[in-house]
Formats: sequence, structure tokens, C-alpha cells
Amino acid sequence: MSLIFEKSVPGRTGVSLPECDVPSDAYIPTEFSRQSDLDLCELSELDVVRHFTALSEKNFGVDTGFYPLGSCTMKYNPKILEEVAALPGFAELHPFLPQLRHGGMLTQGALLVLYELERLLCEITGMDAFTLQPLAGAHGELTGMMLIAAYHRDKGNTKSVVLIPDEAHGTNPSSAATAGYTTTPVPTDQETGVLDMAALESMVDDRTAAIMLTNPSTLGIFNGQIGKIAEIAHRHDALVYYDGANLNAVLGRFRPGDAGVDVMHVNLHKTFGTPHGSGGPGAGPVGVSSHLDPYLPVSRVVKRKDSTYTLDYDRSKSIGYIAPFYGNFAVCLKAYAYILLHGADGLREVSGNAVLNANYLMHALKTVYELPFDRTCMHEFVLSAREEAKAGVRAVDIAKGLIDEGFHPPTMYFPLIVKEALMIEPTETESKETLDCFIAAMKRIAAKVKDAPDSLHNAPCTTPVGRPDEVKAAKDMDLAYLAK
Ligand SMILES: *Cc1c(COP(=O)(O)O)cnc(C)c1O
Repeated sequence: MSLIFEKSVPGRTGVSLPECDVPSDAYIPTEFSRQSDLDLCELSELDVVRHFTALSEKNFGVDTGFYPLGSCTMKYNPKILEEVAALPGFAELHPFLPQLRHGGMLTQGALLVLYELERLLCEITGMDAFTLQPLAGAHGELTGMMLIAAYHRDKGNTKSVVLIPDEAHGTNPSSAATAGYTTTPVPTDQETGVLDMAALESMVDDRTAAIMLTNPSTLGIFNGQIGKIAEIAHRHDALVYYDGANLNAVLGRFRPGDAGVDVMHVNLHKTFGTPHGSGGPGAGPVGVSSHLDPYLPVSRVVKRKDSTYTLDYDRSKSIGYIAPFYGNFAVCLKAYAYILLHGADGLREVSGNAVLNANYLMHALKTVYELPFDRTCMHEFVLSAREEAKAGVRAVDIAKGLIDEGFHPPTMYFPLIVKEALMIEPTETESKETLDCFIAAMKRIAAKVKDAPDSLHNAPCTTPVGRPDEVKAAKDMDLAYLAK
């Protein structure tokens, strides 16, 4: 496919404006006016429309096909949420509009949304307070770790270590380290696939600032011992951080706050309906139990006695600003609409379907691929292509083969404790027909591993670019365009 500049034809134009009848540079001092023509491509409107439509058709998204990227929750999001976010009363708000000063009522609706969303998230998770400020899951983790550090500082605790299971999402140790902590991995029990409790007990001591836990884990297994873990932590005045990025696995069924969790984040863009990918947009609200409330970042939305809303910046123990303005407002708004749209029963159904879909796929695929932790899974499960790798076909080859079958590949080589990992998350929004097509494709690929391994080494062959050298692309990036 050629670049739009290569399609340029001298003299062709996409607009027809009347001849200008005033001097075009009358108000621009000569030293600032352009002396040469702009180097733009010259195309008709149709050329431009076809170019960008063709490009968009090369893109893969949830709107075009099944996207089982484990842990990322690439699910379909109702389009009505985009309409809600585009309502002019919200979309045209300026962050500097007065709240109630000067009699301004323009922001009251937006503040109500933020206030009520915080209350709804408290109800869903069992936490006492939420901040909507963090702009992504990892940002929520960092905020949470800063809250934990503020808590310990305030109490005069000298603590330096955060314990994190060895299968954790990579952002967990990096957030703890960014907040100034040393991180120590806790091993996973090879039988059960959950954190090794004996190891954890022996590791927690007075230097432990927090235990950081993803539940269900990245293996898709729910850790029913979370209450016990909180008890062990609290014995040493360590706090429990709960990574709730994948809350769609437990919505309406389990509330981290009830299990003694002190801090958690949720990914609105995974669980509560915002399409995401390639860095955004997202929001990673952080929930806390009441003893951490004083440290929450500014500003806080407060409801006055007369039922109007305002923002409170006057909080002496706050960790301060972690984001400009009030978080990623449109993402929060979509989450608010998503929650109201579903209601309590609907949210419970979301987790039911997410778990049912994942188990359906897992049971069908474990007959053809190795399933290292063979237990009822939650929202996702992890296969291993270790046997296939012995025959020369690695996880990456299977993933590339799936592209030729019309599917987005699953998450690969993660968690690190599973060799040749393929982490699959179907999400709650896929139909049985789609899941069956995926199962059939995975079985065809398994057959190719035996009969035609080279076809997988050469996959994908249906895309404009097959296999870029990923290391070279990252280390030796060259984005300059050189005309042929
Ligand atoms: C996606 C995810 C994160 C990070 O969230 P981002 O919004 O991508 O920063 C953290 N933990 C888990 C378990 C996740 O799945």
C-alpha cells in the first residue's frame, strides 16, 4: 500500500473555493509570511476518502473480530456509551468553568456524575472512598502505592518492601518500585496455581509495607485465601493492595473491601465500557478503606448540605495532584452510564458470562493444548505451547497463525511462570458461535503443528506486513519517509 504522498498528482485539489478577492497576506507582516509553497500532497476528496478507508480496513479491532487478548479485556462496548459521552452538555464543558462561584450551575451535572460514580464504585467493591483521578490502571497502582507510603510515613513506620506474587502483571512491581519500594516476588504454588501461603507467611515481617495482589491472578485463578492474606498483612501493619483491573471476573459476586483489602484500583476501560488500546483512553480509579481516605489526591468532589456539588482542595494530608483537572472525565462518564445501564443484576450477569465463556473455551482447548493449571478459571486461562515448541512451533507461531485465521492473537509469554504461555480471555460479550469458530481455528493450527509446521513459521501471510523484526523496530527505529 502506498503512502498518501505517493498518490499526489500536481494540480489536483480536493476543495473548490471562490477566488480570493482581498489581499491574502494583508495582516501578516512579510517576515512571517510563507515564501514557498507548503509541501502537501495534492489529491481529490475521493482519493483521500479511499486512502483512509483502505487504511482503516487494515486495522483489527473488537468491532471487526474476536480479540482474546488475555488480561486486557478487549470486549465490545455498547455504542450508546459514546453517544452519552458526546452529549454537548458534557462534551463542551471547559475544565475552568466556575463550579458554583458566580452563580455558575454549568458544572453541577458533571460533578454529580463524578460523585455518584465514586459512590457506585464503593458499593461494587466494598471500599469506603474512591478517587477517579488516575488516568490508567498502572497510574492507579502508582497512586495506591503513594497512598500506602503516605500512610506509613504519617504513622512513623519505616517500611521498605512490597511483596508481589511472581505471576503478577508487570506494572505491579514497577509501580511499587516507582513509589520507592523494594519488591520481592512471592512464589506460586505449582499445584494450586495460587500464591504459596507458607512462603508468604515466612516473608511478611515488620519491613513489609504492603502485599500487592491481583485476584483473580493472571492465571485466571481466584484466590479464596485473600481474607487470610489480609489478616497476615495487618498483623505487621502492612497493607493489602488489590489489583482489580479485571473486575469483570467478580462483579456482583465478590467485594475486595469485604475481604479486608486496604487499597485497590479498577480499570474502567476494561470492566466498565470504554474501547481501549495502544495507550488509551483509560481510567484507573483507586478505592481505599477509611484509614487511607485522608491521603487521597486532590481534588475531591463533595456534596453540600443543599445537594449541590463542589471540589475540595483543602486536604492537609493529601498526596497532592496526580492528574490535571478531574481525571479522564469522558471515560468516567461512560463507566457511570454503563453501570446504570446494567444495574446490579446486569453487572452480576457480566461476570457470570465472562467466567462461563472462559471456561467453555478452556475445556474445549485443553484437549489439544497443554493446560498447566487445570482448575475452574475465572475471566481467563493460560495454555502452554511447550510441547509444540519441542516440535519447533513456538507460542508466537501459533499466535501468528491465528491472524491468518482472522483472529487477534492472545497475550503471549506472560505470565512468566508458564513456558510458551498463551493467555486467553474471551470476555463476556462474545457469542457461542464466535467461540466455536475460535476453537475450530485453534484445532486447525494444532493439526498444522504436526503436518505443516512451516506454514506457521511463515504466518501471517494475509496481512500487509508479515513479521517485522520487533527488536530492530524498537532498537533501531527509523520513521523518516524517503520517497522512492
Ligand atoms: C491491564 C492491567 C493493568 C494495567 O492497566 P493499564 O490501564 O494498562 O495501565 C494492571 N494490572 C492488570 C492485572 C491488568 O490486566
